[in-house]
Amino acid sequence: MATRRVTFRLYPTSLVNQKLHYHRKLHKDLWNAAVYNRKTQYQKLGHSVNYYEQQNSLPEFKQTWVEYQDVNSQALQATLKRVDLAFQRFFNGLGKYPKFKSARKYKGWTYPAISGWKAHTTGKHGYLELSKIGQIQMRGEARLWGQPTTCTIMFKNRKWYASITVEVDNVLLKKSRRTKVSNVIAIDMGCLDALTTAWIDEEETEITGYAQVIAPKFLRKTEAKIKKLSKEKRRKRAPSFKKKIKASKRWKKAVLRVGKLQTKAANQRQDWIHQVTKRISFRHGTVVTEALNVKNMTKKAKKGSKRKRQKTGLNKSILDVGIGKFLQTLEYKLKEAGGVYVELPTKSVKPSQTCPKCGTQKKKELSERVHQCDDCGYIQHRDKAACEVMLSWAFNNLSGCGTHLVSADGHSSTSSTHVRKDTGSMKQLSQMKRQKHYSMGEVAETPPSTR
Ligand SMILES: [Zn+2]
Repeated sequence: MATRRVTFRLYPTSLVNQKLHYHRKLHKDLWNAAVYNRKTQYQKLGHSVNYYEQQNSLPEFKQTWVEYQDVNSQALQATLKRVDLAFQRFFNGLGKYPKFKSARKYKGWTYPAISGWKAHTTGKHGYLELSKIGQIQMRGEARLWGQPTTCTIMFKNRKWYASITVEVDNVLLKKSRRTKVSNVIAIDMGCLDALTTAWIDEEETEITGYAQVIAPKFLRKTEAKIKKLSKEKRRKRAPSFKKKIKASKRWKKAVLRVGKLQTKAANQRQDWIHQVTKRISFRHGTVVTEALNVKNMTKKAKKGSKRKRQKTGLNKSILDVGIGKFLQTLEYKLKEAGGVYVELPTKSVKPSQTCPKCGTQKKKELSERVHQCDDCGYIQHRDKAACEVMLSWAFNNLSGCGTHLVSADGHSSTSSTHVRKDTGSMKQLSQMKRQKHYSMGEVAETPPSTR
């Protein structure tokens, strides 16, 4: 079993389109009410509201605001969960304090379980049925289709999308599509838009080749264009609710232009990731890479630390490049092709600090691009040296293809369950005891901003 996400473009009729926008606004108002609730409870009473308090107050909230009775309650819970995630991000130093959102900026909502929606499709086109909203034509094609589990409705750049996660049973590709099975490749993920690889072919003992993959130029061009266009946008008259200024037509046009380009850049990046990971997964049987703990790397710097600014900048670039996304894609593609994905324990091996020839460990600064060993005098490019360490670790620990397949598979299956957690399912939440003592208080007093 594996989880896959498929995005379909939606083509609603004008009546359904209105209803979709109406629901989007209801979710937006709920978001704002929940943020207000947390903010005022903390400011006035010093009480930090948690997710369960808000979830348990939903039934009462619906009695006051009857229009919410027509909205799928699990979808409402999912919106509250989003608020909770935003606050968690803030508490962990990953984001700013959650904002009140305008209808223009609010993207959509999620059905975290199978109620409230139904996808009538076998993976290619078809239509989506949303309760209280209607039927919507959708276009799109899944690489693999299975049992739909969650559905997210999004409004981006004046277009509607449905992002559906599916449980797929059999993901193995036909064996004939693979070329080489028993060679090993090591990948060192750079912090920039580049990664270095080194591999050893079948029946060889020395490293067969190195390669550096750099993000394509057109991607950088698109990103440069985005910068330029958003600068132009900032010169135009933006709307301001406080100053009672309406947006100018030019500003609105500029917003659309920037949004379009951002979508383009995201698509280009995703496409590039798919191309590179496909190539790697078809040519190599085993992939060894550092277990990059993106969560750890993006943890906030300690309070009062001088590096705080610096670290925030680093966090941004790590998340931007989408290393996590790359590794995730690589892992599932490799599994589909029958390969093995191995993450080496960074803490005990330390590829970037170890000499591949003699094993001496010495710390390097991030700016040091060349590995130079004091003990044996070995000189090598920093990333290539890291790859060499990974390969030798792999050959010492995983030697004998027959046995390592089992152990490595056991290793990777734990991380696949980890991936499953991120589908936004509310199953775990319902297992928690419901707390009933919380009275409505602030939420009911907060009028959802008028439509
Ligand atoms: Zn050495």
